[in-house]
Amino acid sequence: MFVVENIKEIREIVKREKQAGKSIGFVPTMGYLHEGHLSLIKKAKEQNDFVVVSVFVNPTQFGAGEDYETYPREIERDSNLAKSVGADIVFNPSVEEMYPEGYQTDVEVQKITKMLCGASRPGHFKGVTTVVCKLFHIVNPDRAYFGQKDAQQVAVIQQMVRDLHMDLKIISCPIVREIDGLALSSRNTYLNEEERKAGLILSKSLFKAQVMIENGEHDGVKIRDFIIGNIDKEPLANIDYVEVLNAYSLEKVDELKGEILIAIAVKIGKTRLIDNIRIKIA
Ligand code: AMP
Repeated sequence: MFVVENIKEIREIVKREKQAGKSIGFVPTMGYLHEGHLSLIKKAKEQNDFVVVSVFVNPTQFGAGEDYETYPREIERDSNLAKSVGADIVFNPSVEEMYPEGYQTDVEVQKITKMLCGASRPGHFKGVTTVVCKLFHIVNPDRAYFGQKDAQQVAVIQQMVRDLHMDLKIISCPIVREIDGLALSSRNTYLNEEERKAGLILSKSLFKAQVMIENGEHDGVKIRDFIIGNIDKEPLANIDYVEVLNAYSLEKVDELKGEILIAIAVKIGKTRLIDNIRIKIA
């Protein structure tokens, strides 16, 4: 069977593969797969013998009034797409399977979850680390693949893996974009035509800031102000945050040096989009 729904079964399958000497790559997703997800699966297949993809819309990482109910779910389409790029199995558990009655344990990374998306979505990262920790225990992979699109998420997962001495490698993969620059996201399906066009303001602003930096502007405040001014020109856009950070510590920086991350979150109509860019300062 290609799509497995229960924990016992996926454990047995992975155990069998491991006993046969195979390495296990794991790609956790919430489904409605696009080329961004598929790039992670392809990378996992390149680097491992057996690839598990999970599709699970995790209720604990959504806040009240967010899009948990409306989040797109199409498991048949997802399993076909995953298979087409080399996944060996799809794990698609129910909420009851992942959070059985009486469940009372959470995993929480402290400091770096309080800023950026963590500040606007309280509890979000606690839900992410809890489900990812559970999935790691279930799948027991050698390597797990995450997209740089969710830069803070990668940093939080890496922190959890270090802090809890988890025995696996986290591989961070580049952002996949549409030809016009929009970062792929399952949430892009919420955008109407006009909003889709307005959504380009995120990547356009980041790319313009990159050019400014490459041309010698190393003042983080000026870069941030420029991006804010640029996004504010788009009538449908509402800024959640624009931050210029050290790419490793995620601390805000005024003077740009080393490797920096510019991370932004913007609401276009009702849809919250995130994007970021990493730049090495020469
Ligand atoms: P999601 O289904 O949105 O939870 O995403 C599952 C994984 O795919 C996460 O590690 C995301 O960072 C990654 N991902 C989502 N969109 C992209 C993208 N445009 N490029 C690269 N990775 C992505």
